[in-house]
Amino acid sequence: MFINKQNITDKNILCLILLSLVRITASPKMPEVPKNKTIMTLNIQKIREDFPILQQKIYNRPLVYFDNAATTQRPQQVIDVLTQTYTQYYGNIHRAAHFLADKATAAYEETRDKVKNLINAESREQIIFTKGTTESINLAAFAFGEAFVKAGDEIIVSEMEHHSNIVPWQMMAGRKGAKILMLPIDNDGRLLIEKLEELITPKTKLIAVAHVSNVLGTINPIAQIAQIAHAKGLRIFVDGAQAAPHLQIDVQKLNVDFYALSAHKMYGPNGVGVLYGKKELLEQLPPYQGGGEMISEVKFSGTTYNELPYKFEAGTPNISGVIAFGAAIDYLQNIGFENLSAWEHELLEYATAQLLAIPGLQIYGTQAEKSGVISFNVEGVHFFDLGTMLDKFGIAVRTGHHCADPLMDHFGIQGTVRASFAFYNTKAEIDIFVEALRKVIAMF
Ligand code: PLP
Repeated sequence: MFINKQNITDKNILCLILLSLVRITASPKMPEVPKNKTIMTLNIQKIREDFPILQQKIYNRPLVYFDNAATTQRPQQVIDVLTQTYTQYYGNIHRAAHFLADKATAAYEETRDKVKNLINAESREQIIFTKGTTESINLAAFAFGEAFVKAGDEIIVSEMEHHSNIVPWQMMAGRKGAKILMLPIDNDGRLLIEKLEELITPKTKLIAVAHVSNVLGTINPIAQIAQIAHAKGLRIFVDGAQAAPHLQIDVQKLNVDFYALSAHKMYGPNGVGVLYGKKELLEQLPPYQGGGEMISEVKFSGTTYNELPYKFEAGTPNISGVIAFGAAIDYLQNIGFENLSAWEHELLEYATAQLLAIPGLQIYGTQAEKSGVISFNVEGVHFFDLGTMLDKFGIAVRTGHHCADPLMDHFGIQGTVRASFAFYNTKAEIDIFVEALRKVIAMF
């Protein structure tokens, strides 16, 4: 994210200094246990105790962490496993001839099985560990391009994509002499699926689309898009970075060719991601990177490559990170996706109603099928100023273009404030947020 420092006016600087010096008098409320039906299954207060970082105060105020779409916080259970790998069974995986390496290999491979079960992949060979969604997309774009794309071919990318799901396809298209076509959205943040039929030609090879938009929160109808793509003989790549933390993913039901996700958005370590692919497709793709592990045999006369998934896992991976991701998956499954997404939806509705009552506030992304993300602007106040001032109330939101320039262009804006929720957030935190927001707006 880039911050345009030119937008910090003298008046705002003065306000910031005042805010830092003067203790804001609104009573610091600790998040309360919401009284609603979901609490029958989710004890939010108890869940929050698992997250050490949420217990702290920022500027002497309880932290309100609403930047979950950027990265989530980790429960103690994940931190413990991360520590255990370093203190009890750390060794380089595979090729193991000793106890520590054996144990680390088993734990690493166990996470592969957990991911397979989490997203209902057909087999464990289809789960490739990467360092995040970005690397998963780069891998798929490179390898797919090498195998299937030639000059004049076309790739369709939606208008609501994160830069990660645009630029790797552009780079591949540049290398291959192919073209990128854009699938547009409407002003509510709905993908214009009906335009797909017009866009698809005999030269189209693949559609790249997010399952959930990181700005609008729109949940796209992936199974429907996959059906259209497959009926026309195309492949579909799904960026699941914002979906996997909130929804129960079933890659077989969705019938997607590729699916990517990041562990750090799923309460797991950073530097770990997953690329899922259909087996027959992955088998046809060349490796992305060369090095150790991805080979079967190396001779100066030529190299043969390893089998799936190792063909795509060159070098020493993030061993402890992958192992601890297994603990994050256990944690999520223990809560249950139905429970957490029901609670997050309740938070979304609660916050949306309160925000819409603020004069001059506009929300981008108003689809019914929406995850817990609210992007907004307030007339007459720069989004960066809002975010900076909210921080002084202990509230973490994100401001800027959210790595989605084409989407910003669609709405004719430079950026937004984005509040994004996780299952550990509460309605009391939303009250604190809205109260602080009203105060900040009044200051302008
Ligand atoms: N795609 C979407 C929709 C995202 O929101 C993000 C990150 O915010 C990414 C891709 C990139 O994920 P990562 O930085 O974990 O590679």
